[in-house]
Formats: sequence, C-alpha cells, structure tokens
Amino acid sequence: MQSIDSAIAQLEHRRKTLPEHAEIQALTAAVAATSADLVAAETAVSDLEAEQGRAEAELEPVRERLSRNQTRIADGTIADPKALSSMVEEVTHLQRRISDLEDAELEIMEQLELATARLEGLRIRAGEVDQRLAGAVTRRDEAVAAIDAQITEQRAEREQLSPLLPGDLLALYDKIGTSHNGVGAAELRQRRCTGCQLEVNAADLRVFASAADDDVLRCEECSRILVRTAASGM
Ligand SMILES: [Zn+2]
Repeated sequence: MQSIDSAIAQLEHRRKTLPEHAEIQALTAAVAATSADLVAAETAVSDLEAEQGRAEAELEPVRERLSRNQTRIADGTIADPKALSSMVEEVTHLQRRISDLEDAELEIMEQLELATARLEGLRIRAGEVDQRLAGAVTRRDEAVAAIDAQITEQRAEREQLSPLLPGDLLALYDKIGTSHNGVGAAELRQRRCTGCQLEVNAADLRVFASAADDDVLRCEECSRILVRTAASGM
C-alpha cells in the first residue's frame, strides 16, 4: 500500500513538474509578444502606405500642370513673349517641385519596403512560435495522459489491496497520509525512516526490535507507520 501511494505521489509530482509546463508558459509569453510586434508592424506598413498615397496625390496635379504648360509652350499658341517667359519659368519651378516631391515619395517607399520586410519576418516568426506552442501542448497532453493512466492503474491496485488490510490500520495510515503527501507509511531501511530520512535512535530501535510482528511501529519524527523488511537493520 505504501509503495503504491509513494508511486502515486511521485506520479502526481511528475505531472505537476513536467518541463512542458514551463515551456508552454514561456511560449505563451512569446506568442503574446510576437502578436503585439505584429500589430505594431502592420500599423507601420499601413501608415506608410497611406503616406505614399498622399505623396502620390500631391504629385498628380503638379505633373498635370507641368504637362499642360509644356504642351502650350510647344504648340506656340502663346504670342506674348512676357507670358511665354513666365510660363517657361513656371515650368522650371514645377520641375523642381516634382523632383522634391518624388524624392520625398522615394524615401517613404524605402521605409515601406523595410517595414514590409519586417512584417513578413514577424509573420514567419509568429507562425514558428505558434507551431512550437502547439507542439509543446501536444507533448504535455500526451505526458499527462500517460501519467494519468499510470495513476489509474495504481489506484485500481490500491482498491484491490485495501480490503485485505485491517480497517483500523488502514484508517491510521490514511489519516497520517493526509498530512504526509498521501503516504502514511514508510519503509524502515538500514535503521532509517525512508519517509523523513531520519535515523531511528538506539532506544527506539530496541523497542522496535522487541515489538511483535503485528505491532504498528511509528516514526518518532514524522509519525509515519514504519514498514519492517529484511533490510530494516534490526
Ligand atoms: Zn519518519
């Protein structure tokens, strides 16, 4: 009974301390961080796209005006030399303005290219982190299921065993067990309680040695029922 309960306690401990728990926690944090980065990167891309749209909209009427002026100069319909000269001047001005606006737009496009590349990289990374998290969850679920199956097996064995033990001894064992991680007994091995690892003192050992086989021995330190075996050292 004690070895079954020790096994159950160990299995429960292992289920609680699976490395996958920490892994899942870390990956969940990574998923949240990556998704926040993704939102920021998406916003940066859409902001730059809007900015490029505005730059293009600003260029359009200036280009149209330039083309209109160039046509009028070329077809020779402006007779007045003064008007012609001011139109040529305006063409120069419009060309400079277009060049400035195009430079600004080019800069926006370069930024947009960088932001898009960053977004693509983050999407790939987010996919990888999601996949790793899913993998860790699967592994944890499998490990928990395997441990649960073993615990069920141990409990079934315990069910079969308990009717074979004296009722009052089992009650005492269970009572101690509630405050001792579910294990109310420990093997006495090499004069040591394997429950609390304390060595039994000489006086107690003498009492234990003279006890009848069906006497219930208790550890002085942790009060667990001590199970005597050939290796008890008495
Ligand atoms: Zn003890």
